[in-house]
Amino acid sequence: SLSDRLTSTFKNLRGKGRLSEADVDATVREIRRALLDADVAVPVVREFAAHVKERALGEEVSAALNPAQQVVKIVNDELVRILGGETRRIRLAKTPPTVIMLAGLQGAGKTTLAGKLAKWLKGQGHSPLLVAADLQRPNAVTQLQVNGQRAGVPVFAPHPGVQSEFEAATGDPVAVARDGVAEARQKLHDVVIVDTAGRLGIDAEMMQQAADIRAAVNPDEVLFVIDAMIGQDAVNTAQAFHEGVDFTGVVLSKLDGDARGGAALSVASVTGKPVMFASTGEGLDDFEIFHPDRMANRILDMGDILTLIEQAEKAWDKDEAARMAKKFVDQEDFTLEDFLAQMQQIRNMGSMKKLLMMMPGAAGMREQLENFDEREIDRVEAIVRSMTPHERLAPKIINGSRRARIARGSGVQVSEVNALLERFGQAQKMMKKLAQGGGIPGMPGLAG
Ligand code: GDP
Ligand code: MG
Repeated sequence: SLSDRLTSTFKNLRGKGRLSEADVDATVREIRRALLDADVAVPVVREFAAHVKERALGEEVSAALNPAQQVVKIVNDELVRILGGETRRIRLAKTPPTVIMLAGLQGAGKTTLAGKLAKWLKGQGHSPLLVAADLQRPNAVTQLQVNGQRAGVPVFAPHPGVQSEFEAATGDPVAVARDGVAEARQKLHDVVIVDTAGRLGIDAEMMQQAADIRAAVNPDEVLFVIDAMIGQDAVNTAQAFHEGVDFTGVVLSKLDGDARGGAALSVASVTGKPVMFASTGEGLDDFEIFHPDRMANRILDMGDILTLIEQAEKAWDKDEAARMAKKFVDQEDFTLEDFLAQMQQIRNMGSMKKLLMMMPGAAGMREQLENFDEREIDRVEAIVRSMTPHERLAPKIINGSRRARIARGSGVQVSEVNALLERFGQAQKMMKKLAQGGGIPGMPGLAG
């Protein structure tokens, strides 16, 4: 996974105040590979990587993140932005009915989505009408009628079985769509969902028909439905529908499969249109509002890294970080007070073992972490609290009798006080090194 591959990249990176070209290149190379694995179209990957690189170069290194994490965060932010940023809702017409038209290739999942949308909207108190304007496939109308029945939503169709006060023009999908909307207005349905025909490949006649339907019903939303498994073809298909019909939003279907969802990025990137819904199965309830942030996560296949980054940013007290940074710059001594302050920061980050285990950079420390006992922080805290302020600032003065007193005060063995002071000495050295090389302060000293 990307997490694994980034592990080695992280290892080679050190904070240098600003992200360097080499830092960015190393990370972007891995990101590019992850995007290709997720089946994002090649030209989209190329453009995306170039854009991320440009944005990342020269950016200040955040106190909470190392450079690789920071590049990952930029990548994630960009993915979310391209996928539509905030989740976008259906735009309801000022004067009902709201007309929603579905477009896309045959088998993309339009008719299934029509049923899902109808059920979902009905559940929200709307009274939708489904319109069967796919007259291409013999059983397309029946399929929509079955879905409508399951959803408890009526279907307007050019069929003897369906009565309409309007003369449904059999064989003409444009007329059916127009009549369907008229019927909805007449019967006070506040939403109309128009299902249309697709073909296996892009073809001019189909595109013209969709464009004609669009012109006839003047929809408030045109949803382009695309199979998440489509892979590299996503760009061509999306572009053709974008130019041929023009759509207002994207629905990604069959996300229940193995697809990592790269098509979402391809489509959103070449058309600039937001992804609004995800279809995740054949059942009418397998339908979700699309969340760009979750999708970004799925595309990157980053597991918990993004969560870690978020937590680290939240937990890292800006003032404390600034104070630490100043200490580095001033080459001041790292004291037991600082040591304790760091422990408390880490405790703020939640279960620190779990957290560190999630860090790709922590792979090398894994064994030590396995043996790490979180109660250790309590003991360290107790020991440091049993020291006088002077002892905390100048640990060198802590001789044998002071050690015995501190051990008694904190209810531990003298050997534990010794071990702590030993580890603190190492941490102090490590902080000096970090001061020269940068990186996340707060981690050293705990790897005991
Ligand atoms: P249309 O030609 O665009 O109308 O596509 P359909 O709605 O008829 O769907 C084509 C096939 O894909 C049908 O067998 C559906 O059951 C199936 N399908 C549609 N959406 C999904 C989905 O989200 N997940 C899965 N697994 N199958 C789906
Ligand atoms: Mg269909």
